[in-house]
Amino acid sequence: MTAPVRTRGSAELIRAEEPVLAHNYHPLPVVVARAEGTWVEDVEGQRYLDMLAGYSALNFGHRHPALIEAAHRQLDRLTLTSRAFHNDRLAEFAERLAALTGTDMVLPMNTGAEAVESGVKVARKWAYDVKGVPADRATIVVAADNFHGRTTTIVSFSTDETARRGFGPFTPGFRVVPYNDLAALEAAVDETTAAVLIEPVQGEAGVIIPDDGYLAGVRELTSRKGCLFIADEIQSGLGRTGRTLAVEHESVVPDVLLLGKALGGGIVPVSAVVGRREVLGVLHPGEHGSTFGGNPLAAAVGTAVVELLETGEFQQRAAELGVTLREGLTRLVGKGVVGFRARGLWAGVDIDPAIGTGREISERLMREGVLAKDTHGSTIRLAPPLTITGDELVGALGALEKVLG
Ligand SMILES: *Cc1c(COP(=O)(O)O)cnc(C)c1O
Repeated sequence: MTAPVRTRGSAELIRAEEPVLAHNYHPLPVVVARAEGTWVEDVEGQRYLDMLAGYSALNFGHRHPALIEAAHRQLDRLTLTSRAFHNDRLAEFAERLAALTGTDMVLPMNTGAEAVESGVKVARKWAYDVKGVPADRATIVVAADNFHGRTTTIVSFSTDETARRGFGPFTPGFRVVPYNDLAALEAAVDETTAAVLIEPVQGEAGVIIPDDGYLAGVRELTSRKGCLFIADEIQSGLGRTGRTLAVEHESVVPDVLLLGKALGGGIVPVSAVVGRREVLGVLHPGEHGSTFGGNPLAAAVGTAVVELLETGEFQQRAAELGVTLREGLTRLVGKGVVGFRARGLWAGVDIDPAIGTGREISERLMREGVLAKDTHGSTIRLAPPLTITGDELVGALGALEKVLG
């Protein structure tokens, strides 16, 4: 790699953003210029271990060779057709993604929020066309503390006041119940219910893992009451928890899965709604779409992602290294860590607030060469690329121990 000509350093670039970039984020003060695998490098050449992995968009690390090669090959042939025409990459992507996830139909979109929006639309259409809910009466039941994205409809059923305030009026038709509470779900589902939409693990809420039996309970309840079970696996899916899908931990098969983030291999936004033909089959030409959804570049990268997951290697790494992560965090409990939740290579770590806020801990970790991110209050989220080595993971845990000490 040849280094680009630098005219401005990190501090100057951060200052330059201030007047011209909307302030909808508060990034750590690091300016990344290049990356490879588990490591990123800033403008000054300082290296950092990436323990966030783009909120799981980088499950295979930065610039995985197989993904970069697939993208390069496709860039040289065909990048965009729109769905007005067929393209020669989409059939294989859909076939292999359906096979990987054990279902039979794929609706390709781009971002996670679009997959959620599409899932909501499919569920409503299904409720009217198949279930027979009276027009405009369909409801969707969701969980408190959810994170499903940032559109006006999605923030309509968020319980995070920061995400909602100032963005009303909101889309009606959603009911919010506590997460991990089957009795509350039972009470909220009625004959108008199109779907129950939940995250199998609540990522943004702090990697909240429901009790054993919850996901199986949601499946049983939705089947019995005749509504759809939609699992938002945008962050939990595609290897993160040690399985292809987080719902596999309870051997549950939802009616609809929402996928995104890692599906784009850290290269392009790729998302999808996948599900059974009886459900996704409710869409007809003209009723839903996307100019970029299913474009040949996205399909080529997405197919290469599916190919990596077909080997099972990344799921196995996440499961095995997840043991190292759990053991390392267990040793820190009482030494600055008040508790943690972990599944696969994914942990929410609650830090003793007396030591610092999640933000302060993240800044201290950054100075130790480890990039991580707080979620809420004093909780840090750890979600490294699934390509991380055992030694790198132990190094990151050592850095955490140091900044807590
Ligand atoms: C990130 C995320 C989304 C939204 O994805 P975007 O690509 O940012 O729109 C939706 N659901 C979950 C569970 C997520 O983690």
